[in-house]
Amino acid sequence: MTSKRFCCIIEPMSQENIIEVWNEVLSILENQISESTFNTWVVPLEPQYYDENCFVVHTGQAFAPSMLRKNHYTEMLNALKQVIGRELDLKIVYDEELAKTFAKKAAKRAAQLEKAEAEKEAQEKENGYKYQYDSLTQMQSSNLNLKYKFENFVVGSNNKLAFVAAQTVAQKPGTKYNPLYIYGGPGLGKTHIMQAIGHYIIKNKPELKVLFITAEEFVNDVVNALARGDEKTKKMNKFRKKYREVDVLLIDDIQLIAGKTRTEEEVFNTFNTLHSSGKQIVITSDRTPKEIPSLSDRLVSRFEWGLMADIQVPDIETRMAILQNLARDTNIEVPNNIIEFLATVYSNNIRELEGAFNRVTAYASINEMPLNIENVKKIINYSEKEKSYTFDGIVDEVASYYNISLKELKGTGRSAKIAEARQVAIYLCRDLTKQSFPDIGKFFDKKHTTIMYSYDKIKDELKTNNSLSHTVSTITNKICG
Ligand code: ADP
Ligand code: MG
Repeated sequence: MTSKRFCCIIEPMSQENIIEVWNEVLSILENQISESTFNTWVVPLEPQYYDENCFVVHTGQAFAPSMLRKNHYTEMLNALKQVIGRELDLKIVYDEELAKTFAKKAAKRAAQLEKAEAEKEAQEKENGYKYQYDSLTQMQSSNLNLKYKFENFVVGSNNKLAFVAAQTVAQKPGTKYNPLYIYGGPGLGKTHIMQAIGHYIIKNKPELKVLFITAEEFVNDVVNALARGDEKTKKMNKFRKKYREVDVLLIDDIQLIAGKTRTEEEVFNTFNTLHSSGKQIVITSDRTPKEIPSLSDRLVSRFEWGLMADIQVPDIETRMAILQNLARDTNIEVPNNIIEFLATVYSNNIRELEGAFNRVTAYASINEMPLNIENVKKIINYSEKEKSYTFDGIVDEVASYYNISLKELKGTGRSAKIAEARQVAIYLCRDLTKQSFPDIGKFFDKKHTTIMYSYDKIKDELKTNNSLSHTVSTITNKICG
C-alpha cells in the first residue's frame, strides 16, 4: 500500500473511510502476528476516529490494551504509518459498552465450541462403548446420555436417599422400590440419577431391555398412535409393544402428562402390565404425585406404591464438589476461590452452576485470560445488586403497594386482593433473588410446589394482563430504587 492514496485525507474523517483504513491495517497485521493472537485480540478491535496525531480503537477486552501494547505495538504503529502515510500515535481504549456485546459474542462462541467439543467427546465415547458393552444397539435404543452415570454423580445430604435407592434399583431391578419415584426442583439431578440406573443395568445385565423416555415423548407417541387412519390398530400395537416389552422403563418429568386423559390411561395400562410382571419402573417429577394437578387418583396411588425419594438443593460443599469434578475434566487450572465463588452465586440449580462453570472455563481459555474473581464476575455478568435483594425488602414493598399487612401477605387469606399480592411477592422473590423454590417456601411457610405454582401463574399472566404488568413493574422499580 502506498501513502499516496491516503495523503489527501483531511479531517474530519468519515466513518466509512476509517473502516477502510483499518481494514488495510488489519491486512498488514494479519501477516505479522500469529493467527490466534490476531483473531483473539486484533480482529475484535473497533476503530473509532483519527486525526493528524492519533488513531483511536476501542476494545471490549480488558486485557487487550496492555497485551497489545506490550507485545505488538511496534507492528501496529508501523502498519498504521504504512497505510496513512505518516506517523501517528495509536490509542487502544477499553470500552465497557463494547465489553457487554463482546461478552455476549464470546459466550456464544464459547457455547458453540463447547457444543462441538461435547459432540466430539460423545462420539468418541460412543465408539469406546462398542468394547465396553456387549450390545451397542441396546445402548442406543435405550436413549441414554453418556454423561449421566453414577460415577459422575456427586452424593450429598440433599440427594443421598435418591442415590441409595437408585443404586438398589440398579442392582436388583424389579425387586424392591417399584416404582422408584424421584422428585425435586429443576436442575437438581433427577434425570442424571435416573439415567445412571439405566447405564448400570445395561452394563451389568445386558440381557435386560432398558428404555428411557421423557413424558413429553410419551405423550407424542400416544397422540401419533391414536391419529386417525388405516394403520390405527397397527400403530397402537406397535406403541404398546414398545413400552410393554421392556424390563426397565424410565419415565422422566411425569408431571407433563397431567390432564391428558388418553396419555394417563396409557401410562396406567403400561404401568400395570410392567409392574405385575415384575419389571422395574422409575419415574421423575418436579413434585409429588399428589401435587400434580388433576392427575387421576388411581395413578397417584400407583406412583406412591414403591419409594418416593426427593432431591433437595445441594449445600455449598456438594456444589463445590460438583465443580471440582468438572474442573478435573478440563485442562485448565481452576483456582479454589473461583470454585467457591461460583458455588456461592449459583446456589439452587446445578444446571445453571455447571453452565456458568463451562462459560467461565471456555471463555478464559479462548481468551487466554487469568481466572480471577474480577474476570469471572464479568464473564457471568454478576451483579452485586441482584444478590442484595432480600425477601423481607420485597414483601415490605408489595404489602405497602397493596396496602395490606405483612401478616396478611404471608398468611392464608384468600381474598382476591391478598391472594394476588402474595403471588406477586412470591414471583418477585424468585425473579429478583433467584433463590430456590424451597427457600422461598420456607420464608412464606408454604410448600415449594405452592411457590412454583404462584410463580408460574404470575409469569404467565404477565404476558397478557397489562394492569398486573404495570403493578409488577411499579413495585420492581421501588425495590430496585
Ligand atoms: P433435573 O433433571 O433435576 O432437572 P439434571 O439431571 O438434568 O436435572 O441435572 C442438571 C445438570 O446438573 C446435569 O448436567 C447433571 O449432570 C448435573 N448434576 C445434577 N446433580 C448432580 C450431582 N449430584 N453430581 C454431578 N452432577 C450433577
Ligand atoms: Mg430433568
